[in-house]
Amino acid sequence: MDNCIFCKIINREIPSDIVYEDDKIIAFKDVNPVAPVHVLIIPKEHIASAMDITEENAPVVAHIFNTAKKIAEIMGIEKSGFRIVNNCGENAGQTVFHMHFHLIGGKTLLWP
Ligand code: AMP
Ligand code: ZN
Repeated sequence: MDNCIFCKIINREIPSDIVYEDDKIIAFKDVNPVAPVHVLIIPKEHIASAMDITEENAPVVAHIFNTAKKIAEIMGIEKSGFRIVNNCGENAGQTVFHMHFHLIGGKTLLWP
């Protein structure tokens, strides 16, 4: 989608540190990490937020979660553990409206 920063990352129009890619999804390091490991996993299809998941595009969400363990292994946090976070909308602080899942780890995480 035009003017979407994450679509531009997918299309290599702006640089990013990609850690995993396949035909449906891409994962890259967050430019402003909140933990030693902070990766964003996104669908290649532009889906604005979790509110825009439909019966048709929902399989990519399953694929993201099925691939998260592989990305955790790539990042070396599969044994120590991690958190997967999706911010949806204003109150959650979503700033980029191309749905993404934060994969966060590498230290003990506080909750909430
Ligand atoms: P959210 O607040 O859930 O919408 O998260 C957006 C995330 O995207 C933030 O953690 C930003 O640091 C990250 N971000 C924004 N622009 C870029 C970029 N060009 N490359 C990597 N991460 C980015
Ligand atoms: Zn997009």
